[in-house]
Amino acid sequence: MNQKNAGKLVEEGGTGSVRDVEVLILGAGAAGLGAASTFLSQGFDQFLVIEGADHIGGRVHDVEFGGIRLEKGANWLQPIGGPMKKIAEKADLECQKVEAEVNQHKLMVMSENGEVIPEWEVEQVITEVCDIMVEAGDFAANSLNSELTMRDFMADRYCSDSSSDALRKAVEWYVFDFEYTVPPEQASLDVGHWDRVGSSGFVIDQRGFKIIFADVVARLVEKRRLLLNRKVISIDHSQIEKVCVTCADGTVFRADAVLLTFSLGVLQSGLVEFTPPLPHWKTTALNHTPMGAFTKIFLKFPRKFWDDSEWIMHVSDRRGYYPAFMNMEAQGLFPIGTNILIAFVVGAEAQRVENQPLDTTREEIVTVMRGLYGEQQVPSPTDIMLSGWLNDPLQMGAFSAPLPDGAPSKILHQLQTPVGRIFFGGEATDDKFAGFVIGGMRSGEREAKKIMRGVLKWEIKRKGFLGK
Ligand SMILES: Cc1cc2nc3c(=O)[nH]c(=O)nc-3n(C[C@H](O)[C@H](O)[C@H](O)COP(=O)(O)OP(=O)(O)OC[C@H]3O[C@@H](n4cnc5c(N)ncnc54)[C@H](O)[C@@H]3O)c2cc1C
Repeated sequence: MNQKNAGKLVEEGGTGSVRDVEVLILGAGAAGLGAASTFLSQGFDQFLVIEGADHIGGRVHDVEFGGIRLEKGANWLQPIGGPMKKIAEKADLECQKVEAEVNQHKLMVMSENGEVIPEWEVEQVITEVCDIMVEAGDFAANSLNSELTMRDFMADRYCSDSSSDALRKAVEWYVFDFEYTVPPEQASLDVGHWDRVGSSGFVIDQRGFKIIFADVVARLVEKRRLLLNRKVISIDHSQIEKVCVTCADGTVFRADAVLLTFSLGVLQSGLVEFTPPLPHWKTTALNHTPMGAFTKIFLKFPRKFWDDSEWIMHVSDRRGYYPAFMNMEAQGLFPIGTNILIAFVVGAEAQRVENQPLDTTREEIVTVMRGLYGEQQVPSPTDIMLSGWLNDPLQMGAFSAPLPDGAPSKILHQLQTPVGRIFFGGEATDDKFAGFVIGGMRSGEREAKKIMRGVLKWEIKRKGFLGK
């Protein structure tokens, strides 16, 4: 899959030209490629995929770091037992099954000064939090009360006051915030799909997670249906039967229908101008759904000084302050000598970290590590890299987070509803797996089917069978 050439292959007409096409897919991430795959499987190829980056995949994107390729975005096959596992098997994607189970020495939890918290104690708290989450899911499914937050529910169920309990806070972060990017007080009880949490594997394939899209990308390249490096700056839907899309290089595309798959972050930040502006109900739904912040920090050290467990957790009074590190040379991941840890921060901490100098982040992490392993044991990292989705103008965040309140089904319906001939896809619009790669793919398939029905109708109308 030569993605760079994919862009060149289809550069007909040069920049600044006007091109007519039946359907335009905006974005070559999971949703855009899911839509393209659906079109092709139904024998429809009168479409073009426009992508602003120089590569396909969107938030499925690998980079070289410290001698190996790591995933900057999606990394786990989620949800556990879901359709992603089959897709990965078909692509022969190399994955390592990782599950944080204390009794298998996969999770090591320490206090700030490096004191190891006994496994039985950690296990007890994990069980407590997970049981409450399961109960919350059942309660939400059978309750009409949409005012409750997850925190309200948890506070009611905890045996004692949780606010002073640092271990419980750390476990809560691991179980909840790490999954949803927000703490329980910022999520409505109806986060739903608690059963989706967990994964069927951690991707270590050196071809990248993106290999799952290889087949559809090859067909797009062959049919010259993919344009990379075309950043959309405006969408004009003032005409009834045509939508005009303008790119930063001046190229204009005129289409009968447009499928928009840009992230919520992009649409919320006004980076794409709509003429006329999108209706109030649509912007309200887009703005009401939070775009979560989830940051990976890759750290390469001159040597390994940490434990062999897959996860090293740091219990701190400051919630979410570098709470979890993943050991890239834990059993079954990368070879001994890789010397790489990945730190994770989410929500407000991710916002803070992504907006401060990288050297400050490096120092903060080294201080935390020295607290855990001792001043003399921890050398300075030789390299550091942030995933950096928050300030990327093609993303502006990581993935959609749960609604803070309100009626999720109404908001979802509004997110999915087209505006004239502009159709809306992307992970945030999926009813079951919002936030995940599979959610993006499903949304593309859903909208492609909707557009196919519209194209048929418009075609018949054009030929005069339906009249006006
Ligand atoms: C750090 C991180 C970790 C994650 N972990 C997991 C995980 O473990 N498992 C999992 O299943 N999911 C995970 N996700 C979520 C998953 O990656 C996304 O839900 C999914 O990839 C989104 O697909 P999408 O097609 O909806 O959006 P995108 O992948 O964002 O696709 C939209 C495309 O539109 C393009 N675009 C945006 N603006 C413009 C413009 N103006 N002009 C032209 N093109 C534009 C973008 O470049 C992008 O390619 C993670 C995401 C992140 C960021």
